[in-house]
Amino acid sequence: MTIQTANLNQVNPYLPFGDRQDAPFYGKDILSVKQFNHADLNYIFGVAHEMQEMVRRVGTFDMLKGKILTNLFYEPSTRTSSSFTAAMERLGGSVIPINEVRYSSVAKGESLPDTIRSLECYSDVIVLRHPETGSAALAAQYGRKPIINAGDGTGEHPTQALLDLFTILEEMGRVNGLTITMLGDLKYGRTVHSLARLLTLYNVKLNYVSPELLRMPADVIKEIGDKLIPQAEYTSLDEVLAQTDVLYVTRVQKERFENPEDYEKVRGSYVITPELMTKAKSDMIVMHPLPRVGEISMDFDDDPRAAYFRQMEYGLYVRMALLALVLGKT
Ligand code: ASP
Repeated sequence: MTIQTANLNQVNPYLPFGDRQDAPFYGKDILSVKQFNHADLNYIFGVAHEMQEMVRRVGTFDMLKGKILTNLFYEPSTRTSSSFTAAMERLGGSVIPINEVRYSSVAKGESLPDTIRSLECYSDVIVLRHPETGSAALAAQYGRKPIINAGDGTGEHPTQALLDLFTILEEMGRVNGLTITMLGDLKYGRTVHSLARLLTLYNVKLNYVSPELLRMPADVIKEIGDKLIPQAEYTSLDEVLAQTDVLYVTRVQKERFENPEDYEKVRGSYVITPELMTKAKSDMIVMHPLPRVGEISMDFDDDPRAAYFRQMEYGLYVRMALLALVLGKT
C-alpha cells in the first residue's frame, strides 16, 4: 500500500474476497489529513454518528467479526491505543496489542518494514505509532494491509484531527465562521499540525499562541497560508481569548526536547483556570488531546465549556468508523 491520497477508485488486490471493494476507503491507508476532502469527512462523520447510535443501543455488534487489528505502538499511549482496541472490540473484532516494543523483535534490531510485513500476516489492519516523522508512510510503502497513522513523531496524528473536528461539529454545530485558537507547544505537537491542516477545508480563523521557542513550524504556516486561511501568532493568550470559539490546549512535549534546559524555560507557560476563563465567551469550548500535565487546572473540569473528556468519547466513534471503512464494511 503506497497511497497517500484518497484514491477511491483504486482497489487493493490483496484484500480478501467478500468485503465491499466498492466502499470508499476500502483497503486505504490513513496517513495524513492531507488525503481528505469535504466529501470524505462528511462520509466518515456520518458513519461515526451511526457508530455512536449503535454503541448506545447495543454496545457491541458483529460488523468486524473475524477481523484482527494489530496495535503497534513504539511510543506511549493511553487514549489512542485503548480507543482503537475498544473500537475494534465494539465491532466484534479482535486485537493484537504490541504496546511495549521492548519485548518484541524490535528490541533485537528488526526494521519497521520487516515488523510490518510480519504482523500483516496475522492481521487485517495495523495502527502504528512511531517516534519518527514519515514512519507511517514508510510502513505503508512496505505493507499490503491498511496502515493507520496513530502519530508519527512531530509529523501528524490524522485520526486525532478527525476526532477533533468531529468534536467541534458536535459541540458547536458548525466549523465555518469559528475562531480557533491553538495554545501551547505548537512546534512539537503533532495534533495541532494535523488539525490546522484539516481546518483549511473550512472557513475559519486560526490563532497560534505559544512561547517563542514553540511556534508553529514555518512549513505548516505556509501550507495554511497557501489555502488563504487567516492566521496570526501571539505569545499572550489575553490578546485573543475573548474572541475565541474553540480553545485547543496542548501539553509541552517534554520528550521531544533536545535540551532539557529549554523545556524548563517553557514548561508551565500557560495554565487555564476558572478565573482566566471568565474572560472567554460563554458558548465557546476548551479542547485538549490529553494527557494534560498542568495546562488546564482541574478546577475547570466541571465548567460546561470543558469539552476534553467528551472529545475522547467522540474519538471512539470516529475510530470505529475508520476501522469499518478501511475494512470495507459499510
Ligand atoms: N496524545 C497526543 C499525541 O499522542 C497528545 C500528546 O501526547 O500531547 O500526540
